[in-house]
Amino acid sequence: MTAPDPLQETLHRIRSGERRALAKAITLLESSRADHQQQAQDLLEALLPGTNQALRIGITGVPGVGKSTFIEAFGLSLIEQGHRVAVLAVDPSSPVTGGSILGDKTRMNELSQHPDAFIRPSPSAGILGGVGRRTRETMLLCEAAGYDVIFVETVGVGQSETLVASMTDCFLVLMLPNAGDELQGIKKGILELADLLVVNKADGDQMALARHAQQTYRQALRLMASGHAEWTTPVLTISALKHQGLAELWESIREFEASRKASGAWEQNRRDQQRRWFWSLVEEALLNRFQTHPAVRQEIPEVERLIHEDALLPARAAQRLLKVFL
Ligand code: GDP
Repeated sequence: MTAPDPLQETLHRIRSGERRALAKAITLLESSRADHQQQAQDLLEALLPGTNQALRIGITGVPGVGKSTFIEAFGLSLIEQGHRVAVLAVDPSSPVTGGSILGDKTRMNELSQHPDAFIRPSPSAGILGGVGRRTRETMLLCEAAGYDVIFVETVGVGQSETLVASMTDCFLVLMLPNAGDELQGIKKGILELADLLVVNKADGDQMALARHAQQTYRQALRLMASGHAEWTTPVLTISALKHQGLAELWESIREFEASRKASGAWEQNRRDQQRRWFWSLVEEALLNRFQTHPAVRQEIPEVERLIHEDALLPARAAQRLLKVFL
């Protein structure tokens, strides 16, 4: 009798929806050990044919807008309709501050205990690019494990929104109901990234504010060219707390999907994402090789000093180091 192949065994357990096996595979992915990375890549490669079926939804919004309340309510309602939901996070704050904005374990209490949900906090180590790579690969593992709706959550800090938009099919931007104050400071870029704009907390005495915000955002969007020619970004109001507007939001997401699929833009977007991901991996690997090259490393302090003293032009300095490298 031959010994069971551990890779096949793990594959089987992930595919049959064992959460412990999935969590273990993600831990391998997040490990910086070379042998773990190798095992994780072998797993991914073997699992890849089972992926690509899920709906990938990016979610952003400032801290306090209600992201976790929303994901909990929306996730549970999707599960009720027969979906299986995974929630991943990209937390740009953790490498810088050591703390995290999204990492709180008490968030999404009910959803996190549901057998049809899987919640994974942001990988904490390293630069945002590295976090992005792990999140992308984690997403593929979740798809192979049968999760058909994947939320990737982030906060409105730095480049994390662009990163999350670059790995999802549909990007939701959650807004507070005080548009008047907010519109001044709102980043135009975020409106351009949004496939759907969602004003949360449309309940109680914030209802009128939320409706006003909806109008203001609609006007602002009308003045901007939409990112997708065939799609006008809708502005919806919801109450995550009172579970209102969630069915309409799901309907809007499905309309977006149908319209993008009909025009071929859905498929095209995924191909573009794959291509850009490939190039960012090449860049990351090349940069890493460059910066760890012994002769380059030796030269860097000297070259930086010369640049600092205006004794060497940056372009010349780059040429000099590349020559050493090559
Ligand atoms: P996050 O930081 O974006 O994840 O925000 P949370 O989900 O933690 O919500 C921040 C606060 O807003 C909490 O006190 C929530 O109870 C509250 N909140 C979230 N959604 C709603 C809503 O729809 N209506 C109201 N009134 N409060 C909400």
